[in-house]
Amino acid sequence: MQQHVERTLSTLAACALAAVLGAGSPAMAQEPVAAARQKMIQRIELHARDATEALGRNHIDPEVLEVMSAVPREEFVPEDQRAYAYDDRPLPIGYGQTISQPFIVALMSDMAAVGPQDVVLEVGTGSGYQAAVLARLVREVHTIEIIPELAASAKERLRRQGFANVESYQGDGYYGLEEAAPFDAIVVTAAAGQVPPPLVAQLKPGGRMVIPVGRAFALQHLMLVEKDQGGALRTRQTLPVSFVPLTRAP
Ligand code: SAH
Repeated sequence: MQQHVERTLSTLAACALAAVLGAGSPAMAQEPVAAARQKMIQRIELHARDATEALGRNHIDPEVLEVMSAVPREEFVPEDQRAYAYDDRPLPIGYGQTISQPFIVALMSDMAAVGPQDVVLEVGTGSGYQAAVLARLVREVHTIEIIPELAASAKERLRRQGFANVESYQGDGYYGLEEAAPFDAIVVTAAAGQVPPPLVAQLKPGGRMVIPVGRAFALQHLMLVEKDQGGALRTRQTLPVSFVPLTRAP
């Protein structure tokens, strides 16, 4: 179970290590990026196999893995974390926030079961990495971030890298994004105490929401919320996870 948890402690340990090694951690920094990415994909595959029981299957959609082997994760982490960009763990991105562990990004993208015509909402842009991965799988991604500095830097990063089908917004994603709703899928990358009702309302019939639910800084579970054609909800709990909390605008 420990393996499935994005651990704050391991992030702190990573920070300490990064501080000791400095930005250009020799062995890792010199590893060719393509090889590092392939190793990351292999770790994700192993991790998925380990989590078979909780997931109800033993693999991640190959299309998700293909996209993740093409998106340059090193561009989404701060300079001093680049050496660790392809480690299968969350990394600090400033303002007390993290870029999610690659396995979790793969899992959430997979659970959202998106298609090429879909319009998707992400709550919690952070670095913009999850939005970038989704952008390669769907028609349009709308992503909202509550911390103005992170919203601005992710927007610029996504623009610079040519993710033309991502719209970035700054605001409280608890309320979703009325102007772009309804969505085929909603991916929430911060933990909520409960599934926010405005997000349920903005999900299309037949749509799916992936959201970590649980108390802040305690154990949470990754939930899959499915809305059927009649609007009824079905909820399934999958892996235990640990996300930063979904905060609320004052
Ligand atoms: N998806 C991100 C992970 C970011 S961590 C990535 O790929 O890098 C979660 C993010 O959610 C943080 O940046 C945090 O500031 C943001 N967040 C927390 N509460 C929020 C809210 N109510 N609305 C929008 N964003 C929120």
